[in-house]
Amino acid sequence: MKHRLEDLSRRVRGRGPRVGLVSTWDVENNAVRILAATLRAAGYHVAEIYFKDWVSNALDPATDEQLENLAEVCRREELDLVAISIRASAYANSARTLTEYIHDHLELPVLWGGMHPTLLPAECLDVADMVLKGEGELALLDLCNRLRDGSDDLYGTRNVDFRLSDEERVRNPLRPLVTDLDSLEYRDYTTHQHKYFIWGRRTSVGDPMHGDPVFQMMGSRGCIYKCSYCYNSTYKKDIYPGQKWFRVRSPQSMVDEIRQARTHWNMKRIRFDDEVFNFQMGWLEEFCRIYPREVGLPFEIFIEPKLVNETRMTMLRDAGLVSVYMGIQSSERVTGHLYDRRVKNQSISDIAALYHRLGIKPHFQLIFDDPVSTEEDKRKLFEMISTFPHPYDLYLFSMTVFPGSELNRKLLDSGLISEYDIDGLHNTRIFYQHRVNLAYPRPVEDTFWIALTQMLSKPFVPRALLRELARSETLKRHPWPLIQMAHAANYVKMGATAARMVARGEMTSTLVRRWLSFDRVITT
Ligand code: SF4
Repeated sequence: MKHRLEDLSRRVRGRGPRVGLVSTWDVENNAVRILAATLRAAGYHVAEIYFKDWVSNALDPATDEQLENLAEVCRREELDLVAISIRASAYANSARTLTEYIHDHLELPVLWGGMHPTLLPAECLDVADMVLKGEGELALLDLCNRLRDGSDDLYGTRNVDFRLSDEERVRNPLRPLVTDLDSLEYRDYTTHQHKYFIWGRRTSVGDPMHGDPVFQMMGSRGCIYKCSYCYNSTYKKDIYPGQKWFRVRSPQSMVDEIRQARTHWNMKRIRFDDEVFNFQMGWLEEFCRIYPREVGLPFEIFIEPKLVNETRMTMLRDAGLVSVYMGIQSSERVTGHLYDRRVKNQSISDIAALYHRLGIKPHFQLIFDDPVSTEEDKRKLFEMISTFPHPYDLYLFSMTVFPGSELNRKLLDSGLISEYDIDGLHNTRIFYQHRVNLAYPRPVEDTFWIALTQMLSKPFVPRALLRELARSETLKRHPWPLIQMAHAANYVKMGATAARMVARGEMTSTLVRRWLSFDRVITT
């Protein structure tokens, strides 16, 4: 609102704002860390506030005590502006709760940024004073500079929309995408000051990710594909049309960031969290040349089936690649027609065999609970996975429909879903059914196929037995015994995994916190 914005510009003129960046239910938040690094490098005071953490299928709402702890951090840090990072639309209600508390108790202006505010800025502006759309680093820096300089064009800041009153709003265009990712700051993992983690009844000081065995890196932004359910497709088509959406850092810049973090962090593995790891040959050769020499830690990547080939995977394996995360999603028919990802079942089976041959551990991702899969589709998916050589993990997800996505349009147009099925204010299903949990109410036939499919990844459960059970019409109508069997198999596998991690010294408080949700155990 205008009075909060006017107070802000009056208060910070000449010195610039003290900014609190709030990550909602996500301690891994890369966006908050890059924004913080960008503002700090320009001389601004920033507090990183990690408000609760993601626990699959068990996201509890903020308590009054946690909200007061947030307000207390804002007071202690003498903040002028609070920016809340919101990734998925289901978080909008939670962000509203935080925003109203900050407004009511501190009278501070609140800015929302992230995927949801970018897709639905007008709705977000009903609650927030400002909305930051699209890529945020340079836009937030520009906003802070204008506040510091007392600019008379504050409300012309690109990427930022302002609510001056309920009727008066200012919308601004987007600045172009950052083309040189190497020009951005490294995330700061070398200090612990002005970083807070609000969890349970406590507020701890320091970066909550520090000390984790896995260090996450991003070497790129965007994606070359356009899967119907993914925000990348919407950003590419609707938010940044005509611009180069997939951009990569140089291998040297990535290696340098890891080396900087390693001066303060005894990490054991690197996970490259890029949507898809860059497979352009020249870049890959450079990466495989310098990474083993300058980092030398085992690493993991996310990859798409269409990019996998033996030459590239062998190069990466030799550079230290130990495991991959790859989306299969569903049967060939559903993946092609519903998700716009056309890959043959045979190609997936060949890739699984290739990983096995190269000694790379795959984590295959699947999406269930779509409204179009037939009995035949579910059987074919089960049969394809039953050919994969062990070891591998299966990550089973429940379908989420994001606002503005192509999947959203397809399913609404065909009448298969309603507005209430779209992730957002009315639908926070990802909070309790993101990873598939067999206790979730779904058709018994789906429960039957999910229980069978997820047991395939357990090498101690004979496949011949699972194939035999897959023929049982009785179990299809009454899958309760299968559910118990699947639970037992999961506990055995998770127990063995946890024991190995303890033995390697890789079990951290972050993992314990996240894994102590038994609703999650069912989906590996
Ligand atoms: S490949 Fe992955 S990141 Fe890229 S559009 Fe598809 S789902 Fe999104």
